Amino acid sequence: MSYLKKVTIKGKELLFPNFFPDATRGVVRSVDSGDLKQVGIEGLVVNTYHLLSHPGSHLLKKFGGIKKFMNWNGWVISDSGGFQVLSMVFKNKKMGRITPKGVTFYLDTLNHRKPYLLTPEKSIQTQFRIGADIMVCLDFFTPPNADELMTKRSVDMTIEWAKRCKEEFLEQLENHHYNQSNRPLLFGVVQGGTNYKERTRCARELIKIGFDGFGLGGWPVNDQGEIDYEFLKVDAQLMPDNKPKYALGIGNPAAIIKAVEMGFNLFDCVLPTRDARHQRLYRFKKDLTEVDLFDYPDNFEFVQIKKEIYKSAFYPIDKNCDCYTCRNYSLAYLHHLFKIRDSLAWRLATIHNLRLYTRLIQFLRGIINEQED
Ligand SMILES: [Zn+2]
Repeated sequence: MSYLKKVTIKGKELLFPNFFPDATRGVVRSVDSGDLKQVGIEGLVVNTYHLLSHPGSHLLKKFGGIKKFMNWNGWVISDSGGFQVLSMVFKNKKMGRITPKGVTFYLDTLNHRKPYLLTPEKSIQTQFRIGADIMVCLDFFTPPNADELMTKRSVDMTIEWAKRCKEEFLEQLENHHYNQSNRPLLFGVVQGGTNYKERTRCARELIKIGFDGFGLGGWPVNDQGEIDYEFLKVDAQLMPDNKPKYALGIGNPAAIIKAVEMGFNLFDCVLPTRDARHQRLYRFKKDLTEVDLFDYPDNFEFVQIKKEIYKSAFYPIDKNCDCYTCRNYSLAYLHHLFKIRDSLAWRLATIHNLRLYTRLIQFLRGIINEQED
């Protein structure tokens, strides 16, 4: 297995594997850019749809992009917004309409609600205004319960929209006078649900169009609603080894370990930050140096901080963790903060959960480097 260790964007190296938390609306809830840097986060994922709704992409452009706006000098990926918009329309047909041209939906801003047509071209134009380092094509995600016809349609549209995104991307590069060394990257997204034939067709067509990286689209899940790793393996094998393989929305630490072993190298997920706010703190069961992670990916457990047993636990969440929270505060204090619902609880819990992810990522980089030396 050959692992891609880095890619150069705008003259800087983006190291793999890497995990970017979701800053959907231009913020990782409850922490700021200083906290994120301190835990070793190197990049964030923002969402085109949510930023369109507020503060609006034109305001971001005036400000010089999302990075300046949120005082972040790390990497930024902008998701296309397709997943949010299509989910909204799939759930309730009154919420909008999907046509080959794009998706019409109601865009809620703070003051009013207006119909908006999101096209592949507009998605790319918006991502340029956001100022992302890695942009993602507007794709047509395959709903989990899609029949064969719907699956085929979603792949047809994904391929068609990917072509239009690429054309618009090239035009924007020219308009903004970018060259090969200072330009952002554009990723295509593989769809097709749990249909091997369609996923294969989608990946092959996207490779023909030509992208800087490829994303795993949708969540291929089995009948129990769990991630079907067989499909991840198929996608990882279909994607070229010399380009980034981005597993969008994945996942918990075990899912990341399994996906890294398959060849994926870029991840984003709401879990560590959302769980932190829901009183679920993460802890490795065994120290990372004591286990073979690829054989034992389930090496993590939850600390349900509001449980009474932590009321007088005068020790940190994880004695092996070097995060700001573990170095300075006890489980008992966190338990107290959650009980009285102080916002500091969210910040300290988020810092810890994100540090667990960056420790894991650093460890995985070490394994990969060792295997190839
Ligand atoms: Zn910690």
